[in-house]
Amino acid sequence: MKETIGTTGLNLQEPLLWEREKRGRRGFSMPRRDVEPAPLAADLIGDVPELPDLSEVDLVRHYTRLSQWNFGVDAGMYPLGSCTMKYNPKLNDRLAGLPGFAGAHPLLPAALAQGALQLMFELERLLAEITGMDAVTLQPAAGAQGELTGMLLMHAYHASRGSPRSKIIVPDTAHGTNPASAALCGYRPVPVKSNDRGVLAAEAVAGVMDEETAGIMVTNPNTLGLFEENIQEIARIVHGKGGLVYGDGANMNAVMGIVDMGGMGVDVLHLNLHKTFSTPHGGGGPGSGPVCVKAPLAPFLPVPRVIEEGGRFVPSEDFPHTIGKVHAFHGNFGVLARAYAYIRSMGPDNLEKASRLAVLNANYIKERLKGVLHLPYDRPCMHECVFSDRFQRERKVTTLDMAKRLMDYGFHPPTVYFPLVVNGAIMIEPTETESKDDIDLLIDAFQAIAREAEEEPDLLWNAPGRCKVRRMDETGAARHPRLCG
Ligand SMILES: *Cc1c(COP(=O)(O)O)cnc(C)c1O
Repeated sequence: MKETIGTTGLNLQEPLLWEREKRGRRGFSMPRRDVEPAPLAADLIGDVPELPDLSEVDLVRHYTRLSQWNFGVDAGMYPLGSCTMKYNPKLNDRLAGLPGFAGAHPLLPAALAQGALQLMFELERLLAEITGMDAVTLQPAAGAQGELTGMLLMHAYHASRGSPRSKIIVPDTAHGTNPASAALCGYRPVPVKSNDRGVLAAEAVAGVMDEETAGIMVTNPNTLGLFEENIQEIARIVHGKGGLVYGDGANMNAVMGIVDMGGMGVDVLHLNLHKTFSTPHGGGGPGSGPVCVKAPLAPFLPVPRVIEEGGRFVPSEDFPHTIGKVHAFHGNFGVLARAYAYIRSMGPDNLEKASRLAVLNANYIKERLKGVLHLPYDRPCMHECVFSDRFQRERKVTTLDMAKRLMDYGFHPPTVYFPLVVNGAIMIEPTETESKDDIDLLIDAFQAIAREAEEEPDLLWNAPGRCKVRRMDETGAARHPRLCG
């Protein structure tokens, strides 16, 4: 890689403001004094903070440069598998920021919040239509909270039939949050292995499903980016023993308008609005994990639920079998407004097209990189593809080295070492919002990195070489975080 000379505006050696100061510089100019100076009493002054002397432009450039140290999807491609880090149209931010939405107080009486309540009512209907389900709660604040809510709904359903059950089947290709959510609800997760095609075989489910099992949690498409093609047969087996099928719909970006989750046998499904439906994420901001259910589970949904009464929209608590509240007020309303704007501005045809393009882009990357990186499951994928570092390991180059080196080429690293079923996994999700030109740049970068692994592996062992901070002790950072100073 050629070192660039000069500046692109990105200055990674930005000094502290105190190091930058020049005595006497000011960010303002005062009019000449036209009165006699009067001494100020010392007790009126107190301790004066020691601020550096700087001009306005010094300050603006300093903070603008610092803001550029961060990497986001507005700056470049973010192929983080399982996260759907797609570009979100600014239009949806703009609409969610309309004063009537952004300024609405959560304690407003329903009569003064008709627009917001109608938006929630209609968003529930839209999500039900997209997923093929009957009823929706918008309360959960994230995918994982949606899973917990879904588990509580399943628990309430079984309890109402007088048979509280104790176990949940979770395949090894499920998202890591699935067994955690089941356990948090008091269920014992029962693991089942996927087959050599990377999906769940119906026989494997039949072998563990019994009348003590509340149901199964299936991530579909799964975390290998593969569609669980036996899902209908699996649903039949689970339903046959009185169980329910939980669908983790966080990967909905691959199948909008294409797959009818309800028709496929799913009883409870969560969505990640902050992945598929136009809310930026990854910075720890608010998310939303609505839960969609089939009619038999609707009585248990959290309250308040927005209902329509004579053309008015009212939040109703009148659902005696509800599991109660899972979030203050109505959930993260700003995220709901973005999702509504996104769905309405896209329309059914463009939602479907977005999914088809997301799948096409992932398959394009899979085909172009499959000789460069090892592809453990060589078959058509959905919205993401999973490679491994098997070829590079012979040179003692690992997935981590390659991910770090990718940062030197200007890309956010993909998801690594997940899913666990692939040793040294590299999981790439391009999303539909990347152009072929940009995807080709990513492919070029991986090809260059694979050559470096052969010819100059120390470039990879020492990567990143061009970032603000070099290789970090990630375990140390997680175990002993230094939150200040
Ligand atoms: C992201 C994700 C989750 C968890 O969602 P959060 O909003 O991060 O809690 C669950 N399942 C799958 C498949 C995911 O990709």
